[in-house]
Amino acid sequence: MSSSLSLSNSPCAACKIQRRKCTQECVFAPYFPPDNPQRFAYVHKVFGASNVAKLLNELNTAQREDAVKSLAYEAEARLRDPVYEAVESGHHWVALE
Ligand SMILES: [Zn+2]
Repeated sequence: MSSSLSLSNSPCAACKIQRRKCTQECVFAPYFPPDNPQRFAYVHKVFGASNVAKLLNELNTAQREDAVKSLAYEAEARLRDPVYEAVESGHHWVALE
């Protein structure tokens, strides 16, 4: 019973949710591991999987992790608090005077 890091056959969270076959070239796999399906579920709901894939493809690998982190953070914030979206796309908080 060795638990090496070799790739298993289990699809990443993104492919699992989209019912796709996860390949070694899957852009989602390194950032959406199967043990954290919630992360992709949020991002998918807010931004859409195809947009996320497009974004990841445009970035180099060094930038992807940060991008995914902020996407996940933002998606979670929006789903948790719908007001956040209005604030985000609208104006900055106006300082109370
Ligand atoms: Zn995948």
